[in-house]
Amino acid sequence: MVVDVPFNGDPAAVRAMPTAAAALARLRAAGIPTAIVSNQSGIARGLLDREQVDAVNARVDELLGPFDAIVYCPHGPEDGCGCRKPRPGLVTRAAELLGVAPADCAVIGDIGADVEAAAAAGARGVLVPTERTRSAEIEAAPQVEPTLLAAVESLLGLAPGAETLDPAAGGRAVEATA
Ligand SMILES: [Zn+2]
Repeated sequence: MVVDVPFNGDPAAVRAMPTAAAALARLRAAGIPTAIVSNQSGIARGLLDREQVDAVNARVDELLGPFDAIVYCPHGPEDGCGCRKPRPGLVTRAAELLGVAPADCAVIGDIGADVEAAAAAGARGVLVPTERTRSAEIEAAPQVEPTLLAAVESLLGLAPGAETLDPAAGGRAVEATA
């Protein structure tokens, strides 16, 4: 959804991906709630504090929102928590906040951990590769789309460029960032 800046604590460094605004507009037009689920191990590593993460998320919400839920994991890879992707906790928590079942959610992300978290939660995962996506992650993903907008159009059952939306064709969507 936004250009990856590792351990970003600066709201001014937030840049939307090219199709993110259009993709989110389509979801909102279809009445589908959206959430952000992100790993923020910079907190556990002492590189970020929660205020910085909240400020960055507020900037993302300002650029691309309003989101119906924003949840993140503050733990490190060695902490053994249940929320750090590829574990399911963020997806199940976001679904709970959206008032929908994980099975009715789609998680769109750019690394294997995103689609693995989706699968672990019983949600649909869609991989939209970026420069940091490894080829093995692309091969393993259940669905791969070239852009966030293409992913949303696929989920909504639309051909690219279609003018109308059919809410009945789409599930609920959960958006994932890093
Ligand atoms: Zn966690």
